[in-house]
Amino acid sequence: MISVPKGTKDVLPQDSYKWQFIERTAARVAKTFGASEIRTPTFEHTEVFLRGVGETTDIVNKEMYTFLDKGGRSITLKPEGTAGVARAFVDNGLINGVLPGKIYYITQCFRYERPQAGRLREFHQFGVEFLGASNANIDAEVIMLASTFLKEVGINNVSLYINSIGCKNCRKKYQQALIEYLGKNIDALCPLCKDRLEKNPLRILDCKNEDCKKITANAPKILDYICDECSEHFEKVKKLLTVAKVPFKVDAGIVRGLDYYTRTVFEFVSDNIGAQGTVCGGGRYDGLIAQLGGNDVPGIGFAVGIERILMLLENTGVQIPNPNKVKVYFAPMGEEAEEVAFKLCTALREKGIVADFDHMNRGIKSQFKYADKIGAEYVAVIGSDEIASGTLKLKRMADGQESMVPFDSLIERL
Ligand code: ATP
Ligand code: MG
Repeated sequence: MISVPKGTKDVLPQDSYKWQFIERTAARVAKTFGASEIRTPTFEHTEVFLRGVGETTDIVNKEMYTFLDKGGRSITLKPEGTAGVARAFVDNGLINGVLPGKIYYITQCFRYERPQAGRLREFHQFGVEFLGASNANIDAEVIMLASTFLKEVGINNVSLYINSIGCKNCRKKYQQALIEYLGKNIDALCPLCKDRLEKNPLRILDCKNEDCKKITANAPKILDYICDECSEHFEKVKKLLTVAKVPFKVDAGIVRGLDYYTRTVFEFVSDNIGAQGTVCGGGRYDGLIAQLGGNDVPGIGFAVGIERILMLLENTGVQIPNPNKVKVYFAPMGEEAEEVAFKLCTALREKGIVADFDHMNRGIKSQFKYADKIGAEYVAVIGSDEIASGTLKLKRMADGQESMVPFDSLIERL
């Protein structure tokens, strides 16, 4: 038998309704904020991610699925959604269209990581990118969108952490202070962070190594270094979140460390799914579009990991309603009854009601067992009596309650 590749998973028929629920909710919530869906290719020229994710990130350094295609082009399976959306935004001239462009996506992502709970090699993200506006009110709106989505899928126990990492100008001063401080403690940093000190010191604040965490706990705080404009921007974001009654905590440790990230960064974190607790990460990236060859167009977005959302729902006992459950299962006895069952099923299905009947030539007892297994709400036996009287005995499986229903008023009764 051949099994799935390491770090990938099948979504089985009995579970797919949960995915559909998440996807439907994501689309519905995004649309109420004025967003429309984009679908970009599964693979891009590798350069899109080199420029659009950044050469000093974990993703680009060690996690990308990159290969040469038969034409000798370097191709990469998308490790995240933002770079492809930004590429498409420039590529298709949307950058010259009506702004802000409010875009959402639902996509699979590929990262060569060490698989563990909440960390896969193929996983899925719902994300939004709002492009073209630099007003802090859109930062608050994007955070609000993520918060609304989480609430609508049934998650109430996540914490929102926000921070500002300033702009190109004020960050330079901060980076200097940070390098100076970390340089004094370089011997205590993990090998990866020693390397990061030169290339991307902000990333060190994001390191999960305990020794590094001890050092960074006392590092200079970026909020003490940001310029007046960045500070005003951050104050407005906080004010709007407060007005909208979205609880948040300011956390200087949230950095998202990419060169073109600016100002607002945020994460939604849960204590209920173990080590991989971040379900949503986002931020403003005013330098990204320019990085991909467009004009200087600001943008902000987030991505949620769908697998982590599903884990969180499961671990906190949130039930997703299953719309595939059979409403009425018809148990025919004999060939004539089978025809009647087939006709009644058809009538219900035309009204959008989930109905089913026997395909396995089972006896009545095992038909009931089967109906129970599939979680049918009602069972109706069809035999010669029922055919003669044109009336069904509808049995509610939950409590065994029975009611007589004429064939032609079945739909009203359901
Ligand atoms: P982490 O710190 O957990 O590695 P990240 O910073 O790499 O996360 P992002 O690139 O911000 O994650 O992706 C956004 C979201 O996508 C994450 O918050 C998480 O929910 C999800 N995600 C990221 N990587 C994986 C993965 N390998 N498997 C499953 N979900 C993932
Ligand atoms: Mg990661």
